Amino acid sequence: MTKNFIPYGQQWIDEDDIREVVEVLRSNYLTTGPKIEEFEKKFATYVGAKYAVALANGTAALHAACFAAGIGEGDEVITTPMTFAASANCILYQGATPVFADIDPNTYNIDPADIRRKITQKTKAIIPVDFTGQPVLIDEIMAIANEHNLIVIQDAAHSLGADYKGRKIGSIAHMTEFSLHPVKHITTGEGGVITTDDKSLYNKLKLFRTHGITRDSELLHNKEEGPWYYEQLELGYNYRITDIQCALGISQLRKLDDFILRRRAIIKRYNEALNRLEGVVIPYQEQNTNSSWHLYIIKLELEKLKANRRAIFDALRAQNIGVNVHYIPVYYFPYYQQMGYTKGLCPTAEKLYESIITIPLFPKMSDTDIEYVINVVSKVINYYLK
Ligand SMILES: *Cc1c(COP(=O)(O)O)cnc(C)c1O
Repeated sequence: MTKNFIPYGQQWIDEDDIREVVEVLRSNYLTTGPKIEEFEKKFATYVGAKYAVALANGTAALHAACFAAGIGEGDEVITTPMTFAASANCILYQGATPVFADIDPNTYNIDPADIRRKITQKTKAIIPVDFTGQPVLIDEIMAIANEHNLIVIQDAAHSLGADYKGRKIGSIAHMTEFSLHPVKHITTGEGGVITTDDKSLYNKLKLFRTHGITRDSELLHNKEEGPWYYEQLELGYNYRITDIQCALGISQLRKLDDFILRRRAIIKRYNEALNRLEGVVIPYQEQNTNSSWHLYIIKLELEKLKANRRAIFDALRAQNIGVNVHYIPVYYFPYYQQMGYTKGLCPTAEKLYESIITIPLFPKMSDTDIEYVINVVSKVINYYLK
């Protein structure tokens, strides 16, 4: 079998997208112009939030959210180890301490019961991650947060367009973060968004995005100085997104529902075919959640196989399938180990890590690609069955 390499994820850019971007290049604004606000308004409306703030990338968005939440030195913030490093790094940026809660063995999402166990006097916030696009049990997490007066920053980098009990993700937690990296649901090249219903968090996020500087007369200490006048109220960063990027974002947002429909059609086919396959477990879905499917992860039943994950991974890669592993538990990294985190902290996440493989999933995949992936995965697994 020969076949072009199929990556695990990829953007879908078409001529409309290109036209929208070129229009901005011909206009007067490249960076902070009208497209940013237009994109933010449309994004907020889509997820059902009052406000959206678009930033340079999802990591900057998480950093801004941690700032707005007032997270600082001496605080602890609970998150999952089964995520991209950014979900925990943003806590360190603010001088606070990440505390890892273990995952649920079925959904692989953070386990609310373990969040409860990890709460101390120092806990300030929770950053749950909608792993692979399936929303966390956000009602339970919000209830825990309310009991203990904590802020919830939902890392929804995987779950744009997903819903929980009929409500769109982005409208439930105090703040919700989205990523617009090319492998995510829609892209601006690099980009990130925070949504919130809280005006004061919104103001802080906007300040943080641009050096802590404002011209907003509502926020200025000295309102009389003159039209040139602005003030720096906080120590912020240059985390701005550009008009060029937001033009792409506006155009991509129009296609989001179609992208998600296509993702759901692909996983329906994957589930049908791979559920029958001995030796792998397909993703488990909670009743109350409707995933928008960023990743499709198969779990190997290693006890039924003659090979380990590495051998199966290599066999799939050898057939040009761009398999990947999401994720290495964050605290396994040398940087975290040096800080004193040790293996054994979250046994369920650690065990899961040994047996997972991400197979390709992106809306532009052709039906031929899908059948090819199913075929190769089935052959490789059957070959290694005991
Ligand atoms: C992609 C991602 C982010 C943000 O990443 P950026 O590349 O900075 O946009 C944050 N958390 C998770 C879980 C992600 O997958």
